Amino acid sequence: ARRAPDVLIIGAGAAGLMAAFTAARRGRRVVVLDHAPEVGRKILISGGGRCNFTNTEMRAERFISQNKHFARSALSRYTPAQFLELLAKHKIPWHEKKLGQLFCDNSARDIVQMLLAECAAANVTILTDVRITDVTKPQDFRVQTSAGTFTSKALVLATGGLSIPKLGATSFSYNIARYFGLSVVSPEPALVPLVFGQPDESWVQSLAGVSLPVRASCGKIGFDESLLFTHRGLSGPALLQISSYWEPGQAVRINLLPGEDLNALLAGLKKAKGQMKGPAALGRWLPHRLAQELARQGAPEERPVVEWPDRTLRALADRIHRLDLHPTGTEGFAKAEVTRGGVDTRKLSSKTMEAQTVPNLYVIGEAVDVTGWLGGYNFHWAWASGHAAGEALGES
Ligand code: FAD
Repeated sequence: ARRAPDVLIIGAGAAGLMAAFTAARRGRRVVVLDHAPEVGRKILISGGGRCNFTNTEMRAERFISQNKHFARSALSRYTPAQFLELLAKHKIPWHEKKLGQLFCDNSARDIVQMLLAECAAANVTILTDVRITDVTKPQDFRVQTSAGTFTSKALVLATGGLSIPKLGATSFSYNIARYFGLSVVSPEPALVPLVFGQPDESWVQSLAGVSLPVRASCGKIGFDESLLFTHRGLSGPALLQISSYWEPGQAVRINLLPGEDLNALLAGLKKAKGQMKGPAALGRWLPHRLAQELARQGAPEERPVVEWPDRTLRALADRIHRLDLHPTGTEGFAKAEVTRGGVDTRKLSSKTMEAQTVPNLYVIGEAVDVTGWLGGYNFHWAWASGHAAGEALGES
């Protein structure tokens, strides 16, 4: 039975393990194969070791996909409250950090242990350190591996995206999906720091270490969160969120003083006959090093605010509220928290994750062209899509 289960799942990450026990609880014999030496390695390193496992503000608009409605069905049938019930059953303590982000109190290991306990209770077989060498479908699926050949009626692709190759990320799901005639939306790094290479924007790198709350936007989408200057460019939650929407060639717009009217603030200083110069004036509202740099770029040198012409004051305020920067790229998959793109949803059922053109082939988790915002959305997609497939497998 071990080599001929009802369901074979490739990838023992968040989505694969959720699908495994969901199907096994419904009576299916399930085997999960993973090439890594241990399961759920991304869960273990996630959320700074505490795993931001879901978000209370779950909605389809917080996911990026060529089909923006695709995630809706699975998300509606597996909610954050359902995941919290699972945590309660395993007595795992958790807390909300900010913006609806839920984290473990103790360790991300609690989540991995919970998934393993659920799998064990449902008699799921999990094999690690297994290399997959070939997948064919003479009739049932036939999967050749370093641990022998497996056949099964149903095959689930759950190997995630390309981020963090040193943890064993591969293009396996994309390759197998293509082999079976599905298309793949170009995988790109997302939730990733952006880098700057244009000479007139090299000052960005000189501010490495500075951080402040901003509004970062790209096209119509914007995020109010913190921004961090790095040695290579920009990072921090606001920028990571924007990176998932950014396309090469586009500008990123940053409001360095959201919720304030800098023109009015500076006019107030001028009216009060302010004797301070640019850096000190801007330093009232911005981090010191940033204030110094912006003053160097746009304030009259060596002249106190009281002497600044109104148009200089306005231009400076405008620039600080609407700073357009031009990233030259991202820090790539090595630093990306997720992969945007993936197996095209057009040929997948949004209800079951099954390929419409290949019966009994399922794709779940990050391998699918569904990418969540920062803040627990990507794990929730793994749970919800894994649950949707698991339920369908249990019925088939
Ligand atoms: P994964 O969890 O990546 O699992 C895929 C599995 O497939 C792995 O076990 C891998 O070993 C296996 N595999 C890959 N290739 C093969 C192959 N060829 N053969 C056999 N097995 C293979 N998201 C959040 O929501 N909250 C967070 O706090 C968070 N923090 C993160 C922090 C970091 C540093 C990173 C990198 C990501 C973080 N994410 C977070 C994203 C989240 O980890 C992923 O979106 C999620 O793990 C995807 O689940 P998955 O099951 O689809 O894939």
